[in-house]
Amino acid sequence: MKPILKQCEKFPPNGYRAITIFPFIFYKRQISEETLKHETCHYYQELGLGVILFYVLYGLFYIVGLITYRNHDEAYYSIPFEMAAYDVEDKNVSVREMLYGWIKYIKDAYKKD
Ligand SMILES: [Zn+2]
Repeated sequence: MKPILKQCEKFPPNGYRAITIFPFIFYKRQISEETLKHETCHYYQELGLGVILFYVLYGLFYIVGLITYRNHDEAYYSIPFEMAAYDVEDKNVSVREMLYGWIKYIKDAYKKD
């Protein structure tokens, strides 16, 4: 099973490279190899959890990040799904790692340094 790539001018909204809503990856004009790997990781995360649970957890992780850091960027980069997806951009990882690799990032997500 592979993601279905959809080019769309209006979605995702401005400021976003691409967005994955299983089974689709939406992107604006073109998609780089790194972005495709990042979004494919989200595709497998959504496959593993189901789309609804993925987005519920995504929202909860973001809110915990906002409470912890009081900053959008830090909250976004502390979401374990994002930490895992950015980590696979320059690597070749297994489908299993993309499905459940995000779990190991939870313990690092809300450490203040
Ligand atoms: Zn992402």
